[in-house]
Amino acid sequence: MSDFFRHDVIVIGGGHAGTEAALSAARSGARTLLLTHNVETVGAMSCNPAIGGIGKGHLVKEIDALGGAMARAADAAGIQWRTLNASKGPAVRATRCQADRALYRAAIRSIVEAQPNLVVFQAAVDDLIIEGDAVRGAITQTGLRFEAPSVVLTAGTFLAGKIHVGQTQYAAGRAGDPPATTLAARLRERPFVVDRLKTGTPPRIDGRTLDYTVMEEQPGDDPRPVMSFVGSRDDHPRQVSCWITHTSERTHDIIRGALDRSPLYTGQIEGIGPRYCPSIEDKVVRFAEKASHQIFVEPEGLDVTEIYPNGISTSLPFDVQLELVRSIRGFEHAHITRAGYAIEYDFFDPRGLKASLETKAVAGLFFAGQINGTTGYEEAAAQGLLAGLNAARFVQQRDAWSPRRDEAYLGVLVDDLITHGTNEPYRMFTSRAEYRLQLREDNADLRLTPVGRELGLVDDARWARFDAKREAIAKEETRLRAAWATPNNALGRELESTLGVALTREANALDLMKRPELDYAKLMQLPSLAPGVDDAKVAEQVEIGVKYAGYLDRQRDEIARQQRHETTSIPGAFDYAAVRGLSAEVQQKLARVRPETIGQAQRIPGMTPAAISLLLVHLARSR
Ligand code: FAD
Repeated sequence: MSDFFRHDVIVIGGGHAGTEAALSAARSGARTLLLTHNVETVGAMSCNPAIGGIGKGHLVKEIDALGGAMARAADAAGIQWRTLNASKGPAVRATRCQADRALYRAAIRSIVEAQPNLVVFQAAVDDLIIEGDAVRGAITQTGLRFEAPSVVLTAGTFLAGKIHVGQTQYAAGRAGDPPATTLAARLRERPFVVDRLKTGTPPRIDGRTLDYTVMEEQPGDDPRPVMSFVGSRDDHPRQVSCWITHTSERTHDIIRGALDRSPLYTGQIEGIGPRYCPSIEDKVVRFAEKASHQIFVEPEGLDVTEIYPNGISTSLPFDVQLELVRSIRGFEHAHITRAGYAIEYDFFDPRGLKASLETKAVAGLFFAGQINGTTGYEEAAAQGLLAGLNAARFVQQRDAWSPRRDEAYLGVLVDDLITHGTNEPYRMFTSRAEYRLQLREDNADLRLTPVGRELGLVDDARWARFDAKREAIAKEETRLRAAWATPNNALGRELESTLGVALTREANALDLMKRPELDYAKLMQLPSLAPGVDDAKVAEQVEIGVKYAGYLDRQRDEIARQQRHETTSIPGAFDYAAVRGLSAEVQQKLARVRPETIGQAQRIPGMTPAAISLLLVHLARSR
């Protein structure tokens, strides 16, 4: 067979999961083929042109720490930058940018095209080749057969996608793109548990028809945050503002008056939508007491006039969309360029996946992204990176890798999905992580770049930069630990005269930084310690490490306690019915999820410590 048709890893779908999957498989040394409907839509954002946010920014930094593309593309495309929760603790601070849609897509495409070991072919995949219980490749709509021992499926919202605008419905993958109908039908014949979810998007508006004078301007932060650990502000394009306006009582009346024509309320849409990104009709019904809802007026790009009105996702009939849009302050003369819509699509119960994102039913077949029940570009990209890595490792007959919950939000995401499943689109939040002080955005590189390097995901340039940063942190800590202040020495006198801190006994500069009234910047005002490091990221790590040392140590102890049985593995064919003393209900739960480790078993809802002890005893006996 020609090498054109034979690869190590095939990735189906060039969205956020698919591009990261293809890149990580190729970086891991696998000859990789990306099969996607349309080369022009590689890296396309289906909905809001924004990257990051609370929980999501954490994932983007982790993807970056493991050598992925998303953060670098965000730096190349971000036109308004903010640090969310800036006044709160470092665990919940998050980076977000409004992105120029075209620049983002172009950046992803150029990263894909520059990647050795990776080629792209434009085609619709209609079926998978599965022999016995192993995947062997994929077949396109035109009958081309591509073979590989490992396949990553990342079809997003396209599987049996159905768009709704009012009572009108039609098959599509998203507006303007074809659905994957045949592939969805073939997959329903396979041993996967399939269900439906839905998501929605607002109408887009010609920005020239809006009155910005009645809106509140929201400029980006100064100084601007940067997304990638290897990026800089110089990578950012020209910056613009976003704007804020509100719905009115009249908007809500218009919506209430049209609910009998809303596919959400007539029963036409069966799939459950994203709880944290509800449609405007859902918000008006659920929060009936609220007189108005906020709308973020976000530019779609630097060279286009379209804007994205964030907060009015809707699938109401078009005539209602027009009326409700024009009832919004500043939108009185708005021209809609694209209608809002909802889309329903197939997803697979993620409890059918291993922690590597390989399906339990078909060896070598991996699922990533929206098809696993998640919502959002960042959640999709993070899964894609993991699935692509493990697809390559599968071919190379190496052990799969997946981070633990205390190592990465990616670990939390995957563990939540494969243990609990989901019946609504899953979105990442910092509240989902029990060890969030460890899992900060700012230390994602320190947590993951070393393992990424071992896995072959991190190139020499990133590694050199990381190594220099790590060394600079250690050097600065050593310097400050050795800088002693006493009531009578020079540093002690500078402390008192410059910062008003009188010492009663000696302390080194690192311990001094623990005091609430002192921080790195203040200490560097003292001639004996100045000027300090010039890399703000190094200073940040030194300061956070000192200020939160007590909490971090306690959390590390807790993790170590939890770890004892976390990685104790449970054989795939384990017979739960043979464990004496386990209730039938617990047996059923375990047999349904088939956890790979005791750690995962512990997190199944309803699992008791007693049941875990019985399992451990049985496992010990059978070894
Ligand atoms: P996608 O980005 O959908 O990419 C799938 C890719 O696979 C596409 O390139 C497609 O062409 C390709 N493909 C599919 N089937 C085949 C096939 N058979 N053969 C070849 N190629 C194929 N997220 C939020 O967080 N909040 C929201 O409010 C939100 N609203 C949304 C509204 C709409 C209308 C849509 C469509 C999506 C919305 N999203 C939202 C979701 C967001 O777009 C997805 O989470 C994200 O794009 C998922 O990435 P993915 O890589 O899994 O899939």
